[in-house]
Amino acid sequence: MTSELPKQKTDWTIKDSTDLYSLEKWGDNYFSINELGNIDVHPKRVKDEKLDLMALVNELEGRNLKLPILIRFNDILEDRLERLHTAFANALKKYDYEGRYLGVFPIKCNQQRHVVEELISCGRQWNFGLEAGSKAELLIALSLIDDAESLLICNGYKDQRYIETAILARQLGKRPVVVIEQADEVERIITASQELGAAPLIGIRAKLSSRSSGHWGSSTGATAKFGLSVPDILITVEKLQASGLLNDLCLLHFHIGSQINDIAIIKDALQEAGQIYVELNRLGAPMGYLDVGGGLGIDYDGSQTATGASTNYSLQNYANDVVATTKECCEFNNIKMPTLVSESGRAIATHFSVLLFNILGTSQVPSQVPTPSRKECLSVRNLRETLDTIENASKASELDYSKLQEGWNDAIKFKDDAFNAFRLGYIGLPERAKAEQLTWACAKILIEQLSTKEKVPEELKHLKSTLAGTYYANLSIFRSAPDTWAIEQLFPVMPIHRLNERPTQIGHFADLTCDSDGKLAQFIDNGNVKSLLELHELKANEKYVIGLFLGGAYQEVMGNFHNLFGSTNAVHVRFIPGGGYQLEHVVRSNTKSDVLKFMEHEPEQLLERLRIASEVAIQQGTLKISAAQRLMEHLETSMHQSTYLQN
Ligand SMILES: *Cc1c(COP(=O)(O)O)cnc(C)c1O
Repeated sequence: MTSELPKQKTDWTIKDSTDLYSLEKWGDNYFSINELGNIDVHPKRVKDEKLDLMALVNELEGRNLKLPILIRFNDILEDRLERLHTAFANALKKYDYEGRYLGVFPIKCNQQRHVVEELISCGRQWNFGLEAGSKAELLIALSLIDDAESLLICNGYKDQRYIETAILARQLGKRPVVVIEQADEVERIITASQELGAAPLIGIRAKLSSRSSGHWGSSTGATAKFGLSVPDILITVEKLQASGLLNDLCLLHFHIGSQINDIAIIKDALQEAGQIYVELNRLGAPMGYLDVGGGLGIDYDGSQTATGASTNYSLQNYANDVVATTKECCEFNNIKMPTLVSESGRAIATHFSVLLFNILGTSQVPSQVPTPSRKECLSVRNLRETLDTIENASKASELDYSKLQEGWNDAIKFKDDAFNAFRLGYIGLPERAKAEQLTWACAKILIEQLSTKEKVPEELKHLKSTLAGTYYANLSIFRSAPDTWAIEQLFPVMPIHRLNERPTQIGHFADLTCDSDGKLAQFIDNGNVKSLLELHELKANEKYVIGLFLGGAYQEVMGNFHNLFGSTNAVHVRFIPGGGYQLEHVVRSNTKSDVLKFMEHEPEQLLERLRIASEVAIQQGTLKISAAQRLMEHLETSMHQSTYLQN
């Protein structure tokens, strides 16, 4: 689907922009548009507590923190954490649940030190813990958790050292639960426990048969990568019993994939897991924890539907279902209700970071009408006539669609004639240029006339995309928004200023990489996808800043160094009530020297080679000394600057 051009109106209000970009639908009260036409951030979802995003950008640039920049709002991160816990607290109360909720953050979602530290310090009031999926993540979790109540869920492939580390950490006063994800892990747990004369807390990950959907649908079912089938669970329990470890089996875990769009899928999984939990109890395991994994989705497009970029449930619906389904199952089977654990990553980390980038330029098809000259070739004369015909036809009070269609068919024919004539050498570049301009001028009139009409012929409908512009973004999507490329994920993208002006252009973004996949050309459209976004015309000497929102989960670490674009600048902003803010952390972007070293190049050696080459050129008289000096200064300075373009 292509986007609709905004309706022709005499003026444009910030309300129009709010609707056009669905800001209120996905913004979750964290974002709004102010009278200046700039986006305001409301870190606590309070209307009067706000920061003007554009003003913030200008102030950061004043501190030499240039675009592109990632802004992390610590208050939003905390707010999300609080809302998750509030939702579960409400649900526990509503259903009189006899047990508590304990959240953990899956570190893989965002491993940045300042992010994890922030979550741990803010989460202490709820004994919030961490989930590690690898040995490196385990090191982070072990060093950061300092609360004996908080859980440290150990997932992922585990070797002997991983397991022994978890056992010893238990003696250190932490609460690590080693989750058996593969059938052979139980043997390693038994060996490690015998070796150390101590056991870890043990969990089992179940491979559910419940259906799933969406991109991560294959996380469940018989072929899922992780988890034990029911027969394997039974064998594992027997082995634990035989080795005296059944008393340490305390947790059942499942994870049916990320961004579950449909609540019905979550309910099915909860019911199935509930039954397995009951059975493990009957087999003599003490149990105590039911860990429902991640999957809590985000409404990226605000459509509240079970489509890819959305969810048909709220955070509260989710918490209610987890609590109610588990309670029902336990009551029916007369067993003690477990502590409920969730590993929600996306739901916590999505909203708090905003990626801002500037536009370096645009390319638009040339559609100005060229001034006539005396001797023009036949195709150009024909095109001028066609343009007149279309212009006149479009002014008629009752539009004659077949006439417009015919005009457009003619325009295409005459353009082809001109191009052929050029190829065969009958006309020169200026005539060919005129033919191109006149054809696009015809298209422009048709689009302007047809964009507000309903019954437009199919062929004319696609015209709009032919006139769309390319906006060149100071960004690498491979570095900063990899999921847009890897799994075609949609994020809300919109200008952060000029929102009181009508966006008169439509276009998509091309990034700085030399890769034709390096583009942003899919945009949210209320449950659908559109390939073009409404944008403003660039103004001379004024920057145009675009925001990519809801990208706080997974994007940073999945990003890569394609074309050697490194990390962007990043700042952690803390809102000061009553106005103002404080930069809690500034993380400078990778320099060119950094990214060269990642690839094992030696920046000093590269410079030295160039210095020698310039000495030779000076000797040979092709390079002046002053020019050589200038060249070396550019190279040396550039080496220590960001990999992005400086504005
Ligand atoms: C990735 C993952 C999560 C996080 O999932 P979200 O959908 O981001 O909440 C939780 N648990 C496990 C085991 C995971 O692999």
